[in-house]
Amino acid sequence: MKIKKIARINRGTGQHWVGNGFPVNTLFSYSQQGHDISPFLLLDYAGPADFEPSDHPRGVEQHPHRGFETVTIVYQGEIEHKDNAGNFGKIGPGDVQWMTAARGILHEEMHGSDFTKKGGTLEMIQLWVNLPAKDKMSAPHYQEILNSKIPVVKMDDNGGTVRVIAGNYANTKGAAKTFTPVNLWDMRLKTGHIIDLPLPEGFTTNVLILSGNVQINGEETLNEKELVLFEREGDYISLKAISDTSILIMNGEPIDEPIAGQGPFVMNTQDEIKQAMNDYRSGRF
Ligand code: MN
Repeated sequence: MKIKKIARINRGTGQHWVGNGFPVNTLFSYSQQGHDISPFLLLDYAGPADFEPSDHPRGVEQHPHRGFETVTIVYQGEIEHKDNAGNFGKIGPGDVQWMTAARGILHEEMHGSDFTKKGGTLEMIQLWVNLPAKDKMSAPHYQEILNSKIPVVKMDDNGGTVRVIAGNYANTKGAAKTFTPVNLWDMRLKTGHIIDLPLPEGFTTNVLILSGNVQINGEETLNEKELVLFEREGDYISLKAISDTSILIMNGEPIDEPIAGQGPFVMNTQDEIKQAMNDYRSGRF
């Protein structure tokens, strides 16, 4: 066993608004970190933020995506999604929407209508996962994964839980299908508990602290809204909960292909980005 060393700690870039519904901290982005975070492209952590009751749903108006997947995890609140192909979905606490935009989707992402009327706390994650070149122009589709469909693994000594959204944890297979190997684990770790997490050699590993304090590899202590990126070398990391914590583990095999991106399009070449813009402008999404 060889520990994956800490490569970098990201403390967020400060909060900005996505539409009028999502006050987010961007914890990583391919525009800053390029291949270091591959196969992941972007991580936005929205909230926790309180919203007053309203008659007008807040969110992001219709916009396109091409070339990758968006994974939305709701912790608190409710999100409604609608696209130009007539698909509609609503997800709440514990639910995940895994959207394969692939060759193109036009959608809007809004607070749920009930949540909008009642108000309340919103907390959610949006993670962008890249697609290999051969799948970037495949047909779009959705995996709407409700909380009840996500396997939960309990740790020994009642030390916490792992919800296996994707990949494999302790011989438990995750709920989502992925194009390339990805482990996505939503973990709760109780005060004082230590866990050594086996993770594949050569894979990218990012760990986000959503709440509480966690000591990483017996060294650095991270607080909420902080993220650690590990070296690919090594086959485990060690986490110790200093207080009760909520943690997201993002681990995946790097996609060793060029990245060309512009806003909501992530392809391999600038020509493909131009093509995406032309297709979008001429209504071919
Ligand atoms: Mn979107």
